[in-house]
Amino acid sequence: MNLPAGSVLEANKNRSLPNVKNIIPIASGKGGVGKSTVSANIALALVRSGARVGLMDADVYGPSIPTILGISEKPVQANRRILPVIRYGLKVISMGFFVPVNEAVIWRGPMLHKMVSDFLELVDWGELDYLMIDLPPGTGDVPLSLCQTIPLTGAVIVSTPQDVAWHVAQKAIVMFDKLNTPILGVIENMSHFVCSHCGSTEEIFGSGGAKKAAETLEIPYLGGISLDTSIRLTSDAGEPIVHGNPEHLAAKAFIQIAERLVSLVNIRNTQGGCRNVPVKIGPVNQPQIQIEWNDGKKSSFTPKALRMVCPCAACVDELTGAKKTDPLGIADGLRAVAIQPVGRYALHIIFSDGHATGLYGFELLRKLDSSGSS
Ligand code: ADP
Repeated sequence: MNLPAGSVLEANKNRSLPNVKNIIPIASGKGGVGKSTVSANIALALVRSGARVGLMDADVYGPSIPTILGISEKPVQANRRILPVIRYGLKVISMGFFVPVNEAVIWRGPMLHKMVSDFLELVDWGELDYLMIDLPPGTGDVPLSLCQTIPLTGAVIVSTPQDVAWHVAQKAIVMFDKLNTPILGVIENMSHFVCSHCGSTEEIFGSGGAKKAAETLEIPYLGGISLDTSIRLTSDAGEPIVHGNPEHLAAKAFIQIAERLVSLVNIRNTQGGCRNVPVKIGPVNQPQIQIEWNDGKKSSFTPKALRMVCPCAACVDELTGAKKTDPLGIADGLRAVAIQPVGRYALHIIFSDGHATGLYGFELLRKLDSSGSS
């Protein structure tokens, strides 16, 4: 979306999903840690609390949400939009409804990006308090596309206690960090084993690793979920434990985690998160580009100043880091003809000299402002 001349963009408005208040991806470093199980149960716990909730199964490589929720029907279309299937009060869409898994595995960057953005546009979610997104495991193209397409409230990371699982989970944390998406918290799944016969507890993989690691990384720890046969059996039967047996200890653990998550989302929303993101950007075609940040700070840059520090590959030598832009070749009267936010981490600026490849990270813009380069 390009800005018309003189207009100011409300950068934190969610343009693809204007009626969705919070978008929360659930990620894991590797498969099989119970990410989909956790996503479904937490979404259902939010439904129980009275919230309007959607669950988007974006795990193109192994979409298991329809099975976990016992959904066999396909969504219907109305007014050229797709209506989610409603199950246990939860609005559900799975990429598995539309894309055969064996086709998706060969999809790479641009195709996945298009699919994610089409999907977000096409599905009619209606009004939602929370849209939970079950991501594919790892740090691939889908989370990247999501972060670039819509402003995410924050991500939740699911890990098991094993060192190796936590090690890979950290990669997901680093990825979200780079994309300026806050981490709302970490959940340790399968944190201890509960014997279905005697009820005794055993820490098979060692417990509390994710909690300690979260503390070290200063990320909120949302809670632990036991390794419990009832969790698997209820998911296999298509009625997750939070819905089928909410009094079960494991269900109570999911409900408590959902409550903590809601508190953290509220804190983020009232305090604007710990990261600085623009709330207003513009106008274009003017001598100054103004940015108003979520902490109240106001920055002002001449388009020429930004053009001179453009970090794109055409302007900076990738190997040496040396600037290739000749300041004398840039007109004083240069203007920004379009400014477009890229997720929660950068602005894409198109200049009147036709230069259109620069992405300006929010951190870079804050640094430039405080170093007086504006
Ligand atoms: P992922 O989405 O990370 O690939 P799934 O949610 O599909 O993982 O879970 C993988 C398997 O582990 C499923 O059979 C699921 O029922 C089971 N599972 C997940 N979490 C638990 C748990 N806490 N206790 C017992 N089984 C679990």
